Amino acid sequence: MEPRSPLAVLFLAVSLSADEGALDPSIRPQDIQSHVNFLASDELKGRSAKSKEARTAAHYIADHFKRFGLEPLPRPESGGESYFHPLKSSEIAPNVVATLAGSGEGYVLVTAHYDHLPPKASGTDRIYNGADDNASGTAGLLEIAHAFAAREKRPSATIVFIAFTAEEMGLRGSRYFVANPPLPLEEIRGVVNLDMISRGKQNLIYCEGGEYEIMRNAADKANRRVGLNIRYDEHPEWRAQSDHSPFMKKGIPTLYFGVENHPDYHRVSDHADRILADLATRVSELTFLLVLDVAKETSAKPEEILEEGPEEG
Ligand SMILES: [Zn+2]
Repeated sequence: MEPRSPLAVLFLAVSLSADEGALDPSIRPQDIQSHVNFLASDELKGRSAKSKEARTAAHYIADHFKRFGLEPLPRPESGGESYFHPLKSSEIAPNVVATLAGSGEGYVLVTAHYDHLPPKASGTDRIYNGADDNASGTAGLLEIAHAFAAREKRPSATIVFIAFTAEEMGLRGSRYFVANPPLPLEEIRGVVNLDMISRGKQNLIYCEGGEYEIMRNAADKANRRVGLNIRYDEHPEWRAQSDHSPFMKKGIPTLYFGVENHPDYHRVSDHADRILADLATRVSELTFLLVLDVAKETSAKPEEILEEGPEEG
């Protein structure tokens, strides 16, 4: 997340009872923690978008998308089949994009930035590990993608998983994506952006975008099963400060999930051993369920869909 100012917080107690039953397939805290341990390790030196370590992170993400069985999204300018969607500047590591093809129309996007900050000039600990910001959201993105890929049923809408670059340089990855869209923006049903989902109180998450009814209804429905304390729209100033912003500005139904600022925010102490993997897991489960709902699934297998009838035209 880009720097943001503190704001008084209203404490609103919301108690919700979670429905019984684990997700199938499940999202596991140990997998979330494992991704964060790698991405926020000293070896990756903070994953600043212009560093070679950001490219290491990009490859890590692409390798997982491939391992899960997800497809690349062709880039309009090249038609190239790659998970990497470079920006105009070749100095900056690319956006990393994968899709799970739907049986019908439309797209639902899940996004998280994977870059963070370059090392400090001096000091004993110089590396901004960026575990919460935003290895946590990237880990969530990967495991949500994993869970979608592992399902037999396919959704109606195509799900697009995007790890954005250069958020910390002024949302450059997401702004480039929206300005040069590899898919028709008007066909996007909804977007969920995860940025900083693993600190604060164990069960507490903030959400911006509550005015988009389709998304909020899906989130509330999903939360009957997950049981988080979701606090909506208490931080309007956050709307300009992460990768949801370019989508919201286009009027695309978009939710942002994140935690309050904390003492390790944009400090070298944002370490992997300080994250709440369980919180990141539950936010990821919530996102998985709500995206599934917005994407509306069909139980037909791809071959059955093709056999339903000849295509028009
Ligand atoms: Zn940040």
